[in-house]
Amino acid sequence: MPESTSTPRLSTKIAAIAESATLKVDAKAKALQAQGRPVISYAAGEPDFPTPEHIVEAALVAARDPKAHRYTPAAGLPDLRAAIAEKTLRDSGLEVDPGRVIVTNGGKQSVYEAFQVLLNPGDEVIVPTPFWTTYPEAIALADGVAVDVFADASQNYQVTVEQLEAARTPRTKVLLFVSPSNPTGSVYSPEQTKAIGEWALEHGIWVISDEIYQNLTYDGVRATSIVEAVPELAEQTLLVNGVAKTYAMTGWRVGWTVGPADAIKALGNLQSHLSGNVNNIAQRAAIAALTGPQDAAEAMREAFDRRRKLIVEELNTIDGFATPTPQGAFYVYPDVTALLGRTFGGVTPTTSLELADLMLDQAEVAAVPGEAFGPSGYLRFSYALGDDQLLEGVQRLQRLFAS
Ligand code: PMP
Repeated sequence: MPESTSTPRLSTKIAAIAESATLKVDAKAKALQAQGRPVISYAAGEPDFPTPEHIVEAALVAARDPKAHRYTPAAGLPDLRAAIAEKTLRDSGLEVDPGRVIVTNGGKQSVYEAFQVLLNPGDEVIVPTPFWTTYPEAIALADGVAVDVFADASQNYQVTVEQLEAARTPRTKVLLFVSPSNPTGSVYSPEQTKAIGEWALEHGIWVISDEIYQNLTYDGVRATSIVEAVPELAEQTLLVNGVAKTYAMTGWRVGWTVGPADAIKALGNLQSHLSGNVNNIAQRAAIAALTGPQDAAEAMREAFDRRRKLIVEELNTIDGFATPTPQGAFYVYPDVTALLGRTFGGVTPTTSLELADLMLDQAEVAAVPGEAFGPSGYLRFSYALGDDQLLEGVQRLQRLFAS
C-alpha cells in the first residue's frame, strides 16, 4: 500500500512510541548470550527466582477446575479482589471495599489504563525523573503531556515540594509518585511523602501512586503509601500494584488498581472492552501469593538485600561511579558523569548510552543507560541475578575502568 501524505499508513500516535529501552538492552544481551558470548546482564527488571512452589500448585489446581476455563468478571475474581483489599490495608494503610479494586494484566496495564481514565488532551502529568521508561509513553498514548521534574543523585533522586510547585500549571492534572522507585531504588521518607501528598491535596491534583516495589525495602525502612500519609487523598488517588516483583511472578501478568468508585467504574468499562478478565489461573495463583505463607517472599527479599550491599560496595570502588545506597526495589543507579569524556580501550564515551555500549563491547556487561529514564549520565543495574554472576560482572567493570 503506498504512503499518502494525507493518510499515513499507520497510526502516527503509535508510530511515535519508542520501543522499551530496558527490554531492548536485555534482548541484546540475551541475543549475545545465545551466540555463546559470556554476557552478564544487569538489564532485566525481574527477580531471577522461580515463583514459590505453593503459588505454582494453586495454579495447577485452578487449571484443572472447569470454573477457571470460562469468562469471569472483567474487574477480577471476587476472592482476589478481597485479598487485594486486605493487602492494601496491611501495606498501604487504606481500608477499601473490594469493589474499589480492579485486577489487571500486570502493573503495566494498570499504568496505561490509569492515564486513559484520568487524562483529557493536553492535561499535564508531573513525572519525577529519573522515571520508569513506560510512563511517558503511557501518558502520550492518553494524549497527555509529561512534565519531567529531575532530582539528581545529590538529592537521592527524590523531588521536593518546591520543585513540584515550580512545575505546576493550570493544566497539571496528575502527579506520579513512585516509592520505591524504578530505576533508582530510592524510598521517600514518611515526612517527605506527607509533604508531597498535602501539596497534591491542596491543589486538587490526582496522584497515581505506583507501589509495585512496596514490599522490597531494606535497612528496616518501610515504604509509606501516600494515602496512608494523607488519608484525605484517597478520593483522588489510584494505587498501582501487582504480584510481579514481590513473588517473582513477572510472567504471570497479574496487577491491580485501587481507587475511588468513579475511577474504578471507568477502569472497569475500559477493561471490559480491552481485555476482559485476567487469566483465571494466574488470578488463582495471585490469591495464593497474597493469602498464603510469606516466607518465600521474605527469603527473596533477604537475598536482594545481600546483593544490594555487595553491588553498591563493589561499584563504589570504581573511580567515576557515584552510587547512592538505595533502600528499595532491586536497582542501583550510579551517577557516571565522571567517566564521560575519558578514554577506555581506545573509545571515549560522551554519553551514558555510549558508555553502556562500551561496557557491552569490551567487558560483556549489560546495564541500561540513563537515557532510558531521563537525562544521560547514569546507568541502571538490576541486582536480581545470582551472587557469583553479580560479582563477576562488577569485577569486569573494575578491570575495564582501571585501564
Ligand atoms: N511499575 C514499575 C515502577 C515497574 O518497574 C514495573 C515493572 N518493570 C511495573 C510497574 C509493571 O509491572 P508488571 O506489569 O510486571 O506487573
